[in-house]
Amino acid sequence: MVERRQQLRYAAAETASAVKYAFEVLAEPLRVDPDAAALRLPVPDAQTTTMVGEVGWGSRPAAVLACPGCGSDVYQHRPTTVIDCPECWREVTPERFSDLELRYLNCPECGDRMRHGRRHPEQFDLPEWASCDTCQYHWELEHF
Ligand SMILES: [Zn+2]
Ligand SMILES: [Zn+2]
Repeated sequence: MVERRQQLRYAAAETASAVKYAFEVLAEPLRVDPDAAALRLPVPDAQTTTMVGEVGWGSRPAAVLACPGCGSDVYQHRPTTVIDCPECWREVTPERFSDLELRYLNCPECGDRMRHGRRHPEQFDLPEWASCDTCQYHWELEHF
C-alpha cells in the first residue's frame, strides 16, 4: 500500500516536470523579440492583418461626385445606383461614374472623408484605393 502511494507520487512529479518542460518549450519563441518576428512577415501580409477594409468595386464606399449640370455634390451610396442630382434632377447612369468629377469617398466605418487615388492612371479611370485617416479603414479596387 505504501509502495503504491509512492509510485503515484512519483508519476505525478514526472507529469508536472513534463508539463513544465512543454511550457518552457512553447514559451521559448515568445521570448524572441516580438518586433523581429513581425518584421519577418512579408509586407502585404502585414498590411492585410492590421487593416480593416474591403476590396472590389461592389463594396466601394459611398461617393460624392460633382453634378455635371450644376456642380452640386451628388451622393452615390452604392456603386450600382443612379447618380441623381438633388438640385437640378439630372440623372447619370452608374456606368458613367468615371465621366464625373469624384470629390471624395465617404468612410463606411466612421463617415469621414477618405483620401483616394489611382495606382495606374493610364489604365483605370476610377479610384483604385481609398483610405480613412480617422479610423484606418481602407478600400482597394483590386487585390494586390
Ligand atoms: Zn445638378
Ligand atoms: Zn473612417
